[in-house]
Amino acid sequence: MQSTHGDSMSRRHTTTDQAEPLLRITDLRTQFDTDDGVVRAVDGVSFEVNAGETVCLVGESGSGKTVTAESITRLVECPPGEITGRIEFRGENLTTASAARLREIRGAEIAHVFQNPQDALNPVISVGKQVAETVRIHEDVSERAARKRAIDLLDRAEVPDPATTADAYPHELSGGMKQRVLVAAALAGDPDLLVADEPTTALDVTIQAQILDLLADLQREMGMAVLFITHDLGVVARVADRVVVLYAGKVMESAPVDSLFADPGHPYTRALLACLPGRGRESGSIPGDLPSPTDPPTGCRFAPRCPFAVEACTTDSHPSLYPVAQEPDTDRDGAGTTAGDSPDVSTPLSAAPLDGAASRDLETTGDGVNTAHVAACIFHGPDRDAAHLDREVSWTVAEPDGGGR
Ligand code: SF4
Repeated sequence: MQSTHGDSMSRRHTTTDQAEPLLRITDLRTQFDTDDGVVRAVDGVSFEVNAGETVCLVGESGSGKTVTAESITRLVECPPGEITGRIEFRGENLTTASAARLREIRGAEIAHVFQNPQDALNPVISVGKQVAETVRIHEDVSERAARKRAIDLLDRAEVPDPATTADAYPHELSGGMKQRVLVAAALAGDPDLLVADEPTTALDVTIQAQILDLLADLQREMGMAVLFITHDLGVVARVADRVVVLYAGKVMESAPVDSLFADPGHPYTRALLACLPGRGRESGSIPGDLPSPTDPPTGCRFAPRCPFAVEACTTDSHPSLYPVAQEPDTDRDGAGTTAGDSPDVSTPLSAAPLDGAASRDLETTGDGVNTAHVAACIFHGPDRDAAHLDREVSWTVAEPDGGGR
């Protein structure tokens, strides 16, 4: 169906300078004063989101994904929170924006869809009225016009029989339908950026796939960028253009999705991938725990869980991001990807590296370095040879029969 706002939305989307990212986050730090000390939930995170693309923030629970996303429009309560760094949205610095300006941006230019639709909907107000109220936040229209627009939005979110469903209360709808209602509300301001925080985690697999398809269709139709937060690498493979891997509040690795799956460069990424079904780690989780957010380890925060850690990993400051990979071989059998396809998550990948099996060439400099693919590990920094001089740091992409490449 056509949006009543299609023209104005298209005009606004095309005003974005394509040379500049839609969202640029630089050295974001979000911390909280607690009785146990200062929790550095996000500690120097930088990444960009371009117009129209999908960037996934991925990592275990507690890695800082949600706090990063909620810091963008200051949904984080401050105090006790404190946000520093620079957040530029279409060139505007949101870190210094007034509360009134942030209220304007929320929903209109940057919309959020959260994990649990039950918590986000008011149980005693019909869903149509809730979407209509969101419409009236963004537009000076009558109740009647807002209801009509709400029904249009529900239709756009593929809610069946939207005129009738608009009069339903949240408890009368399934989890998937409630999430569609929230997607409809998020579209009310014709956002340029949709922040989707684990929007399918509470749903069963079939409904999850439907919601992911819906978001992809809407993104194409509206030209939105999506910042997608998830712990599920299967979802990442399905939706992402680029991936930012977070661990303990820091970026461990950032890469185009096919490059990350074909040739992960950081031990933490490899550990996450090994947890995918059929990829070697039957428990589905990485051994060990996240470090204390009030007292993280010196040096690399993954060191206590990293099978490749050497002494230098625990003595220096956290490693910087370095280029890690050649352009991925798109014709590679088994573990490779083909341009335009989602990465194949069914292939055993990175089971061998964590078991210290076969080796690969670690050279990361010279022609053909994929500078869009970076990882924060001394393994990729200038001191890597010295740090790993006396040990074979080895990993590979395992073929299904167990052979290396
Ligand atoms: S810096 Fe050291 S501990 Fe951290 S991921 Fe790299 S090898 Fe492992």
